Amino acid sequence: EAFAKISERDERIGAYLTLNEEAARQEAVKLDNKLVQGGGKGLLFGLPVGIKDNMVTEGLRTTCASRFLDNYNPIYDATVVSKLKEAEAVTVGKLNMDEFAMGGSNENSAYHPVRNPWDLSRVPGGSSGGSAAAVAAGEAYFALGSDTGGSIRQPASYCGVVGLKPTYGRVSRYGLVAFASSLDQIGPVTKNVEDAAYVLQAIAGHDHRDSTSANVDTSNYVQALTGDIKGLRIAVPKEYLNGVDPLVKDAIMESLRVLEGLGAVWEEVSLPHTEYAVAAYYLLASSEASSNLSRFDGVRYGVRADHAGGLLDLYLESRSQGFGPEVKRRIMLGTYALSSGYYDAYYLKAQKVRTLIKQDFDQTFEKFDIILGPTAPTTAFALGSQVDDPLTMYLNDILTIPVNLAGVPAISIPCGFAEGLPVGLQLIGKAFDESTILRVAHAFE
Ligand code: GLN
Repeated sequence: EAFAKISERDERIGAYLTLNEEAARQEAVKLDNKLVQGGGKGLLFGLPVGIKDNMVTEGLRTTCASRFLDNYNPIYDATVVSKLKEAEAVTVGKLNMDEFAMGGSNENSAYHPVRNPWDLSRVPGGSSGGSAAAVAAGEAYFALGSDTGGSIRQPASYCGVVGLKPTYGRVSRYGLVAFASSLDQIGPVTKNVEDAAYVLQAIAGHDHRDSTSANVDTSNYVQALTGDIKGLRIAVPKEYLNGVDPLVKDAIMESLRVLEGLGAVWEEVSLPHTEYAVAAYYLLASSEASSNLSRFDGVRYGVRADHAGGLLDLYLESRSQGFGPEVKRRIMLGTYALSSGYYDAYYLKAQKVRTLIKQDFDQTFEKFDIILGPTAPTTAFALGSQVDDPLTMYLNDILTIPVNLAGVPAISIPCGFAEGLPVGLQLIGKAFDESTILRVAHAFE
């Protein structure tokens, strides 16, 4: 069914970069036999999954939507990919994204943009735009995305699906091509909240191969979906409603009324450092990226420039040809912020701002169970409308970035429409308390 939808729709949508059709069909036959023999007890048995193309898959091309990795065939599976295999899901293919996950519209893919299934003239969001579009179009039953500053939640919001960014450390990053290691986190993109709980159950947990993976017990996320949110205390930061599209705001206020009807109470609060989050994020994420991407030198992975004159020339030519403009911009920005003389003024200062933002969250969670707001200030915008204006593009993530800086979990769920386009509601939880945001999201749905 997934492949039928892909051949019917993906030429227009562009969600996939590589299909795994033959292997997937063989796997499906194997699973079928297992079932006949009384097996097939995997948590995600037989479900077709699409995987964002920055998670390595053994023997299956992994490009990060970059020319640099056009010919890269990994020799191992990311931990999340092994876990999906254990759960008996079937990999349909690798999903389009912004190059190295840098972007918020999927227009930075070196191959082709992804189109929003709700309106093909609009972006699906990014960087996990392929993941969100594939699920919205039925081209995968569910997908994995990664979220450094909003890349699961913002596309989920634009495409009318559910996207969960777990707590930093909850899901192993082993085999996720690093963008900004202190912010990156893998999570599910699904059609509904129950599916997100199942997928999180399958992929969460400590992994000795990722030193930042947390050794914290996972809960039973599916059992957490009780439907009961009586007495729940919701904080609504006033900074999250300022400047958002009035129709988006209407949908959020209406959602609050629904939650009140279910027995929750809410209060307006202030997260005073919100306005500095985007600036701090672009310094920190770019600094980490400039360091992480130094491994792409034309020697170790992917494409190597022909006719290079010597070693330095080989690095220079391979990197000049392999990386797209946004990736180069971030490497330059990050290298500048880390260089001696500027380190204290930029990188160190941004780290201090990050701590203040985290404290805003800590203080709010002393009195409240969740924080609520829109996922993005607007609905999906038109393809091409922001490509020449990186600063406007960066501001689309103003409501998702603080969550990554604080390391806490958040989910985006559909909460209505504005002029025919889906609006996303963001629920932010305490660190390692994915259960509460899943429970509230499920009750709301
Ligand atoms: N849009 C943000 C950026 O460009 C977030 C990307 C992400 O979460 N991977 O960095």
